[in-house]
Amino acid sequence: MACQMCDVLVEIPELGAGEQAECTACGAVLSARSTFGTGLSLACALASLFMLALAYVYPFLTLESRGLTHKLSLVTLPDTMLEFGRPEIAVSIVLLTLVFPTILTLLNMSVLIPFHFGMKAPGYVIPVLRWSHHLTHWSMVDVFVIGVLASLTKIISLADITLGIGFWSYMAFALLGLVSLWHFDRSPLWHWAKPHRRHGEHKAGAPG
Ligand SMILES: [Zn+2]
Repeated sequence: MACQMCDVLVEIPELGAGEQAECTACGAVLSARSTFGTGLSLACALASLFMLALAYVYPFLTLESRGLTHKLSLVTLPDTMLEFGRPEIAVSIVLLTLVFPTILTLLNMSVLIPFHFGMKAPGYVIPVLRWSHHLTHWSMVDVFVIGVLASLTKIISLADITLGIGFWSYMAFALLGLVSLWHFDRSPLWHWAKPHRRHGEHKAGAPG
């Protein structure tokens, strides 16, 4: 692979648990294997989906001001945005905080499950790894969390806020998703799927 810092081409050997590969030219970390293996990434991915489901079922927060109570939930949030004439924000919220993170988690799980249980690499592993890599940039759960926390600090002076189960579930979903991605090491997965890739390279006439 090419080092993202200095573009030097390096071949990364198969790493053991807790080991990391560094660029021979600039010392940047190219790949690191989690001490916990893929099990932690898989467990966190599964738990994060469960938390996301809870976040959509239970109320997110309740606002109380001058005797008026307003309940907000993730399901009604896009509707509220549409009512305020902001369809682009409604669509962005649904895509970036629900659709993309869910697809990303499901894609990662579809690769992690056969890998973790020592099965033969299914043919879909390489395209799934590519799509998962692209989607990582479009899953903006962390941005949404920071946005919500920043808005809360403003609203807190105007209304009484009660944080609901949905809020805490979404925070747990964000945290578990982050840990899962952190430990989602692509390098051993590429090595595992290598027979399929080599076949393609041979067809293309590349050496090795
Ligand atoms: Zn480098």
